[in-house]
Amino acid sequence: MRFVLCLVVITLLGFSTAAEPHAPAGAAGPTPVPGAPSRPALVTGGRPLRYRFTATNSDGKPARWNPCGGPHQVLVNLAGAQAGALTDLRTGLARLDAVTGLKFDIVGETSAVPGERWGQEGVSGAWPPVLIAWRSFSGTADSGDAAHTTPVWVQNAQRRLVFVSAAIVFNTDDNGLYHSGPGGTMSRLGLVEHELGHLAGLDDIPGPGLEQAGSDGAVGHELMDRLVGSVDRYQTGDIRGLTLLGRGGCLTVPAP
Ligand SMILES: [Zn+2]
Repeated sequence: MRFVLCLVVITLLGFSTAAEPHAPAGAAGPTPVPGAPSRPALVTGGRPLRYRFTATNSDGKPARWNPCGGPHQVLVNLAGAQAGALTDLRTGLARLDAVTGLKFDIVGETSAVPGERWGQEGVSGAWPPVLIAWRSFSGTADSGDAAHTTPVWVQNAQRRLVFVSAAIVFNTDDNGLYHSGPGGTMSRLGLVEHELGHLAGLDDIPGPGLEQAGSDGAVGHELMDRLVGSVDRYQTGDIRGLTLLGRGGCLTVPAP
């Protein structure tokens, strides 16, 4: 049994890696947040209730998608994907929508491949759709990872953090590690749902570690445990975090 790391890449517009924020181009653009974002606290309610938001506002409430104004569009590039991948994506998105109350719609297929800056620049005055694609991580520093999700968020005029786009890339080198559909360990649907949890605004949470895996190979008790593979559906802590990401009313989305 092999467990595969998943990484959520933190992207906040208007920031470099340095602590000093810089204003984005254009006076009407997103407002940079003072100070570098700090990693939100892990919420623990005793196992199995654990979750962590990808980013939080100063009051501790999470960065989230605007729940109003129509579905968030998703484009899919299936080049390199396993058979059945689109079905898994549709199933995963339906489960995410059901838990959060948000709405993500696959609006079409594309040949676009997400670069590092996908979602950070507007196209025809709008933020780009969420892009989901497959490629090999071989030869990169991320070759041990199963997938990367890169959400993009900005601060609006009300000084609330709002997600505007994202990219999800699955590692084709791991296509054979996951079995098709739901059920048991190393479920591809479980991996898909884990990445969609990142899309919605949950960060990885630390698992107990490989050395503490049980004889059945099970690691962790939440789907957002960083070591993906032990469960194939959102668990108690996942659902609590995702529910909070769907609450709080409409958000103003700044123009890009
Ligand atoms: Zn992850």
